[in-house]
Amino acid sequence: MNIPAGEKGALTRKAMRVGALAALGALVPLVVLATLTLTKSEAAVRNEVEARLRLTTALSSALIAEQVKSIVLLIEGAARRPRLVQALADGDPDHFDHAEIDQQLQALQEYRHGRTTSGLLDLDGILRGAPGAPELRGQDFSDRGYFKGVVATGGTYVSEAFVSAVRARPFVVSIATYVRGLATGGQSLGPPLGVLAASVELGEVQEIVDNVAAVQGVNLWIADQKGHLVAAPGGRPTALLPMASAPIESVTTVPVGRLVGVDDHGEELLAVRQQVVPLGWTVFAAVPREQAYAGATAIRTTVLAIASPLGVIVCAGIFLLLRTQRRQWRAEAQLALARDEARDASRQKSEFLANMSHELRTPLNAILGFSELMANEQADGDDRSVPSEWIDHIRTGGRHLLALINDVLDLSKVEAGRIELFPEPIELCTAIDEAVAALGPLLSDRKLRVTTTVPPLTIPIDRIRFRQILNNLLSNAIKFTPTDGQIFINAHRAGDQVHVSVTDTGPGISPADQARVFTEFAQVGDVKLRTGGTGLGLPLARRLAQAHGGDITLQSEPGHGARFTLTLPAAPHARPEAPPDSAATTYPSGGILVIEGDTTASLSLRTRLERAGYLVTLAATGEDGLAAARSCQPDLILLDLTLPSLDGRRVLQQLKDDPQLRHIPVAIINIDDDQEVGVALGAVDYFVKPVQHDALLGWLVHHSFIPPLDDHTINVLVIDDDPATLAVVTQTLQRQGVQVIDAANGTDGLRLARAHTFDLIICDLLMPGIDGFTVIAALHDDPATRNVPVLVLTSQDLTQNDRNRLAGKTLAIIAKGGETPADLQEWIHRITEITAITR
Ligand code: ADP
Repeated sequence: MNIPAGEKGALTRKAMRVGALAALGALVPLVVLATLTLTKSEAAVRNEVEARLRLTTALSSALIAEQVKSIVLLIEGAARRPRLVQALADGDPDHFDHAEIDQQLQALQEYRHGRTTSGLLDLDGILRGAPGAPELRGQDFSDRGYFKGVVATGGTYVSEAFVSAVRARPFVVSIATYVRGLATGGQSLGPPLGVLAASVELGEVQEIVDNVAAVQGVNLWIADQKGHLVAAPGGRPTALLPMASAPIESVTTVPVGRLVGVDDHGEELLAVRQQVVPLGWTVFAAVPREQAYAGATAIRTTVLAIASPLGVIVCAGIFLLLRTQRRQWRAEAQLALARDEARDASRQKSEFLANMSHELRTPLNAILGFSELMANEQADGDDRSVPSEWIDHIRTGGRHLLALINDVLDLSKVEAGRIELFPEPIELCTAIDEAVAALGPLLSDRKLRVTTTVPPLTIPIDRIRFRQILNNLLSNAIKFTPTDGQIFINAHRAGDQVHVSVTDTGPGISPADQARVFTEFAQVGDVKLRTGGTGLGLPLARRLAQAHGGDITLQSEPGHGARFTLTLPAAPHARPEAPPDSAATTYPSGGILVIEGDTTASLSLRTRLERAGYLVTLAATGEDGLAAARSCQPDLILLDLTLPSLDGRRVLQQLKDDPQLRHIPVAIINIDDDQEVGVALGAVDYFVKPVQHDALLGWLVHHSFIPPLDDHTINVLVIDDDPATLAVVTQTLQRQGVQVIDAANGTDGLRLARAHTFDLIICDLLMPGIDGFTVIAALHDDPATRNVPVLVLTSQDLTQNDRNRLAGKTLAIIAKGGETPADLQEWIHRITEITAITR
């Protein structure tokens, strides 16, 4: 089954939406986690680098300051030595003791292992003593920074870096201080006599810086107060270079201690600067960013190495899940489509069946009507133009077809939920007796005994449907029970339910087949035992039971018979309007008005009814029917609902509205099973076309509509459940000019006997429901019937006890058998004589 392209597209879009959402849901946390890890690790690295560089610059500046301070202390100590002070006499260079001066300067240089060059200048800046460079003696150094610094501050002065005049030590800083005479006159300082200066080679600073840089793993630069590079990574600068030549030049403007990024020919450096107090120098420390972030980069690589495949796996998982999900959605969509199609097909099937059944019934109506007529056609001697078996075949086949169509139609109605039920409180006992009585011929054919145990119970149920269910269960039981077997019908109340069970002593049903018997068209068990049937009876019976809120269940053991139990709600069901109790009403004998639009049907109906002794009036339209009803005041109207011009429903309405006609009972005959309308409008019963004439005649007698009894003929009531006996007795008596009314069971017989005056009652003894003994006793007990002579016609061997029960209530007991017709003729003869006398 293919899903429409539009729906497919919608499913794909839905899958993509869900996929995108799922991917977002799964990947966003992954990305956030990875980003957080990276940011945190980078921040940690940055903090660590910043701390390291700050420490390094602080350490370097402290070491340099310390070194310079120690040299300052050394020079100041040397300047205060008394022998040097004496050697300068009064400060006049002409009075200087040059030998002593050189000796003192020499001692200073040796103290620093020759790493310091020292000199003495007079107060005009002329070099007067220089043991390391005697050639410079007499030169003027008054423009040197250190000289100017001492003159300006009056104290010790550390100069900026400069190019020294001493060739061997080109780049130096000089520390200079006054050599003062003894303080006089309360002054704290004595008068300056000369200036002692010592130069420190920049290599010494470079050494300190190199040591620190090596230990800390960083690059260090030192700049003096004029912005000249004093030290740099890779060694002391070969010339006195400005800061601008170093990559960290831009850091000079950044606040002290702040970590900044610096570009060094494409390589990024992280740098920090620090002041060397009190020299005014600056220490710069830097590390390549890549090196500093090596740890963070490793973390990033690891995180990416984990997160990337994880992301791919998650996406692949989502994709696979979506594919599966999409398949499931498609399967669900297909399932829904299939379900809709199945529903549609089922509806179409029901409609088809309903239409077909309707169409089939119409011709069947004619077939059955005329086959019945043919079957009752009088033979002309031994000649008969149509063999009676053929007609029987037509009739049996037609009936079978009709039953099948009715079953199929009912089933489709129940399936489509269109079954209409007319529940009314019915006497279980009576209903069961009637059903059994109707199957009397079949039971006696197979010599089956039925034992009924039913307490007085009333159940709310559709009478016709109940009969249908029971008929199915009983006919199955009859079908499967071997000759001479027994069938049990039991009923009891269990809480809110009534259980009616039909148990047979047939072959039973295997457990595997038990569920299948309720499936349409399923036939189970031994193929040889399957006699006809369609496999529709049980499914339909069960659906009907379910439509009443009940069910049918099965218990069976192979070889030990089967029990079908019908469960129904027991609560009495109140009907708004009780149907007329036609059975209790006594109608005067008289004519039947048939209002039927279909001439074929009306003719066949009239023939059959007239043969049974009824007066029949025909009307082909509603208007004629109403006129006929007014003029002949019939005892019963059989009304077809499908009439030309004035519709049958309106005819019924007018009959019921007319005070002169409303008392006449109306039974509907209709092609459709539309009971509700008829009953609602006041009809007493409803026959679905084609009307089965035997059933109609039985119904008429059952409701006391009997042909008019003639005072001039002998009227005999025959009560027997066996149709064959009834036929034999009726024919025998009719040949003698006797009018015969037959009743198929004790209940009907008793009612007819009370309602009409018969000259003789012939009664069977063994009957389902009320048996012959009871009927005879009741007739005897009723003053209205006590005097009617009763003949017992039985196939039973009567015990003495039986005879005692009948004694005084019957005329005679005739045994069923070969002599019956002769015996009956004899008795009719006698009755005729007696009647002639008594009338
Ligand atoms: P049908 O009798 O028309 O075949 P049903 O629906 O009434 O259809 O029954 C279905 C099948 O169940 C029968 O064909 C038969 O095989 C089985 N079945 C029904 N009742 C009995 C029973 N009392 N004993 C054994 N088998 C039965």
